[in-house]
Amino acid sequence: MILVINSGSSSVKFAVYGISDSGAVSPVCRGEVGDIGSSPKFTLRDGNDIVIEGKELDLETVSGHEDSVKWIEGWIESNLPDLRFTAVGHRVVHGGAVFRSPAIIDVGVMAKLAELEKLAPLHQPYNLAGIRAVMSAHPEIPQVACFDTSFHRTQPKVAQMFGLPREFFESGVLRYGFHGLSYEYIVKKMREVAPAVADGRLIAAHLGNGASMCAIEGGRSVATTMGFTAVDGLPMGTRSGSIDPGVIFYLVRERGYELDKVEELLYRNSGLLGISGITNDMKALESSVEPDARLAVEYFVYRSVREVGSLAGALGGLDALVFTGGIGENSAFIRGGISRGLKWLGIEIDEETNAGGKVLISKPENSPAVYVIPTNEELMIAHHTAKTFNR
Ligand code: ADP
Repeated sequence: MILVINSGSSSVKFAVYGISDSGAVSPVCRGEVGDIGSSPKFTLRDGNDIVIEGKELDLETVSGHEDSVKWIEGWIESNLPDLRFTAVGHRVVHGGAVFRSPAIIDVGVMAKLAELEKLAPLHQPYNLAGIRAVMSAHPEIPQVACFDTSFHRTQPKVAQMFGLPREFFESGVLRYGFHGLSYEYIVKKMREVAPAVADGRLIAAHLGNGASMCAIEGGRSVATTMGFTAVDGLPMGTRSGSIDPGVIFYLVRERGYELDKVEELLYRNSGLLGISGITNDMKALESSVEPDARLAVEYFVYRSVREVGSLAGALGGLDALVFTGGIGENSAFIRGGISRGLKWLGIEIDEETNAGGKVLISKPENSPAVYVIPTNEELMIAHHTAKTFNR
């Protein structure tokens, strides 16, 4: 059995996978402690991702990420006492220039990952808290870190560099890209559902509270919207996405911002929340009649259309666009808005299949084709963890 832990900014998700003799992994159950920091709740789903009735609990006594992981371990020990874990796999957002593939965790690896915390302040500290919690309770179980940055290491140098003096690139100041585990899953799934285009020129749009897009050719990352950190590219729930760095000079010099306050502004108070002044929640913004809510949604769609244009340029054309992530999987409205803005690329979706939540939402004869594929980062982590231990 493999335990997967995906420790995010306000939730800890876990999933249990069985491993067959051939090394294939299959889901047993998955669960989540959500709303950490406000009023934590536990939800459990079966192997088919259906919420199990009566398994939604309020967790008043749980506080913070390490505590949530310990609570999950305790829950597994009392409710699934016969499970024996071969290994625990973790999602780790930033692997820097060092980690190009999954890594077995030891003290040295942890020290290197802790150095990267400042490059992903919304995620890395929580990812490492999850690892520490397992380390202290079960030091005998091996752990594997699977990185969101690894998938992008196939990009050509021009796609990874900034227009800075070359020494910066050599010392690791480059576009790392993120959401790699999600993109890897999309490639795997596209090979099942659309083999004719899966190894062609794809753009995958992972649109959630964090949002990015990736240009993929032959199953490998060619370019992506996120950069040195996960604040770059598309506007997100609370992150600004790309801005002119000149704005930061202005904020510091003319408005007296300290760097911590700039970071707080760009990571936590911008994007959909900052523009709307209401919420970072796309679903709520879509149903709001407030003009600033409409503007936030319009800006998200506008920037998405521009980024697809840029990535299509990097690919030299486009065979398929794939939507995933909470917004990409669930919002026919946003998919429709982005697709309409891409008519010039030949994209035409079928409004009925789009509204009906089908996998293929463009007209069957149309190219580029447009797909909706629910992502599954936990499955990729289980797969990598099983492979690392070769069983
Ligand atoms: P994270 O990046 O934290 O994993 P998710 O991928 O879960 O985030 O995406 C969360 C986003 O998806 C939220 O903005 C939420 O409002 C949005 N979302 C979920 N369902 C819908 C829906 N039916 N319509 C519009 N937006 C939705």
